[in-house]
Amino acid sequence: MLGRTHLAIGILCALLVLPFISVPSKLLFVILVAFGALLPDVDHEKSKINRLCPVTKIIPVFFKHRGFFHSLFVPALIYGVFWYFNEQFVGLSLVFGYLTHLVSDGMTRMGVNFLHPLSNWQMRGPFETGTFAETLLFVGVIAGIVVKLVF
Ligand SMILES: [Zn+2]
Repeated sequence: MLGRTHLAIGILCALLVLPFISVPSKLLFVILVAFGALLPDVDHEKSKINRLCPVTKIIPVFFKHRGFFHSLFVPALIYGVFWYFNEQFVGLSLVFGYLTHLVSDGMTRMGVNFLHPLSNWQMRGPFETGTFAETLLFVGVIAGIVVKLVF
């Protein structure tokens, strides 16, 4: 899926869970989730995250797209690092965004292997990246964000 779709899905999911959780800052939570939702595509050289933050452009040289960085091991590592530094809020927010990305990529035909490289199982769905169907999904998610912010 495109970066903008991941960003929108991340923001919508953050807004949907906000009423049920207690966070130090709602705005910071949404920003961290949105950033986390872009993170997995550091393994793609032309991704939004690699255009925003060229430092990570080295990652696609060593890791294939939708390989290790689209597994559950990376968010577990991210959480572990932030837990170690006693920043659970930042860690959990980033991981939540990260997981929204993995699940939404799992709705595409290309699919996602959550246990790469330990398993070959792929979660797949009907969407094809960059198609009209994804644009419709994007528009629907934006509409959801607007509804959530207004009501
Ligand atoms: Zn991805």
